[in-house]
Amino acid sequence: MTLYDVLGVSQNASETEIRQQYQELARQYHPDKSGVEGAKEKFHKVTEAWHVLGDTLKRREYDDQLKREKLYQEFPVSEELFLEDLEQDKEGGVYLHTCRCGGHYTLAAQDARSSTEKEVVVACDNCSLSILVLLNCDENT
Ligand SMILES: [Zn+2]
Repeated sequence: MTLYDVLGVSQNASETEIRQQYQELARQYHPDKSGVEGAKEKFHKVTEAWHVLGDTLKRREYDDQLKREKLYQEFPVSEELFLEDLEQDKEGGVYLHTCRCGGHYTLAAQDARSSTEKEVVVACDNCSLSILVLLNCDENT
């Protein structure tokens, strides 16, 4: 269940829609007013969801997280690798990793460098497996 489900809004809902929905639910489940069973818990969840979705930055992070979770579901990740673990081609333009099926995972060095994500899922060119490549791990060195 996503935080969007908790509030009963779509993932594309506008800030206004989210705020209105939160206010509506908060009224409905407010522990002081409601005799409904489980209202307190529901109120807590709704408030938690609002704290994330009502905050533009946190919402964006949460959306990224959802996107990743969705990717994992669609593409089973067989391995997690650091970018340094991958081989590079002679020109250094592409990172390569050989899949256990004999196929290849390829990641353009350009994409790896310009990515704002901390990790990227790369699909095998031959089977349905994917690897998770961890990027930006040399940030602190
Ligand atoms: Zn493969």
